[in-house]
Amino acid sequence: MENIFQRTGDPFIDAGGMALEYISEQFPEKSIDELIEWAAKIYVEKWRAKIDAIFLNSSITHNSKQGAEKVTATISKFKEIKNSSNNEGYCRFCGKEAFLTDAGRDQTCLAGSKAFVNFHHSHESGIMICPECAEKYFFLPFAVLQMGNLCLLQTITEEGNEYWKHKTVQENLNRISRGSSETILKSKFTRASNAIFHFASELITACDYKLESEHITMYHFTNFSSSVDCKISTIPNPVFRFINLVLKTSAREWYNFIYRNYHIGGAKWNDETDRWEKKGEPVEEDEYRNHTNSIFNSLLEGKSILPSLVRYSKKQLIKEKTIDSRIAIYYVQEVKGMTSEQISLIKSVGGRIFEIMQQENNFKKYMVKLEGATKAYQLRTAILNIIKKNYTTGNERTIVTFDEWVNYLFPDGQYWGEIRDLLLVFLYEKLHSGRIKIDIDDVEQINEPLEENEGI
Ligand SMILES: [Zn+2]
Repeated sequence: MENIFQRTGDPFIDAGGMALEYISEQFPEKSIDELIEWAAKIYVEKWRAKIDAIFLNSSITHNSKQGAEKVTATISKFKEIKNSSNNEGYCRFCGKEAFLTDAGRDQTCLAGSKAFVNFHHSHESGIMICPECAEKYFFLPFAVLQMGNLCLLQTITEEGNEYWKHKTVQENLNRISRGSSETILKSKFTRASNAIFHFASELITACDYKLESEHITMYHFTNFSSSVDCKISTIPNPVFRFINLVLKTSAREWYNFIYRNYHIGGAKWNDETDRWEKKGEPVEEDEYRNHTNSIFNSLLEGKSILPSLVRYSKKQLIKEKTIDSRIAIYYVQEVKGMTSEQISLIKSVGGRIFEIMQQENNFKKYMVKLEGATKAYQLRTAILNIIKKNYTTGNERTIVTFDEWVNYLFPDGQYWGEIRDLLLVFLYEKLHSGRIKIDIDDVEQINEPLEENEGI
């Protein structure tokens, strides 16, 4: 039998279909016409018809009709669509051959409207869709969250779909049955770039860290009047796998790192208490949740978070707190595509450099050279000098062989700054585990050149 709920790839119709499928399972005795009436009554009676940001000037939201008239007009509209014998063709969403309706912004989001026919390929008066897709779309309000504008999450796995269904449609039905549903569900987030990572983390923990194939897209949109808008954020699969690994093994360290990287106006970071404070009082999560977070933004924009990880590791060292290099390892492995051979070699080079520092009992000299390298040749020179030192000191073991240097330490196509940053995180971890203190003045000298990304 044909599955009318099969996904089409359009996030809006698929979310509406997901909502209708779940709701129809909860009310198996109701026909589709009765389900439309049920939904229309929720929109009108419980939500006071405030779904304009989804359906503009529709039978529900247009103010030419009031109360029960809105419900009656909606039922009539769907009967008309179903009984039409005009516009035979193929549905733009599901591809099925049917008598199509020209859905404008009263029935679909961001789809153009009759005043803007050039939006559509053949200047149709709306997007041409089949009656079943029109019905599915009507249930979209149950599958979105209010987040300033509206938020819709598109996932590619069944687990992701179940997560979003639980968070939106099921929650709506629970509230409706308790009599506490008054509007489209509200999220505690207003900043989409933070919310998408919160959703990803919830999904990862709900799947017990076993979900690896996910790829998440968030549509932060409104179909309202002339302010129509849609911002799209994506957590691609490599970033999703990275977050999955850090939450599985280093969740506490990860959240510490994230916490430090909010930008909270009027607040100061307290190194003693490890928290954001305003006049000595902690800034609570309700307040900082919607502030800019530079790590989330970097991950969404494809910018490296390694310089931030180096700075964080250094501050942890100064505070004599644990440093967990696994976050940096997972990042270069999953997101930057660094091979395990390369990671092992950089780790081993870090270990050998640390031994030389210990032999000389001079940590500052080498750290300044390595961390201060802002160009590829400076990093190469710093490492070559250490290799030379190793040789002249009479150490039998070499730091790196010629083949390792060419194939793994500085291979073609790998950005040299990533090697420097990973090496530094390893060294900071070593310094911490060796309980080596570097005084603040020394560290401050090597503080800021990390932002530079010059060179090859
Ligand atoms: Zn269709």
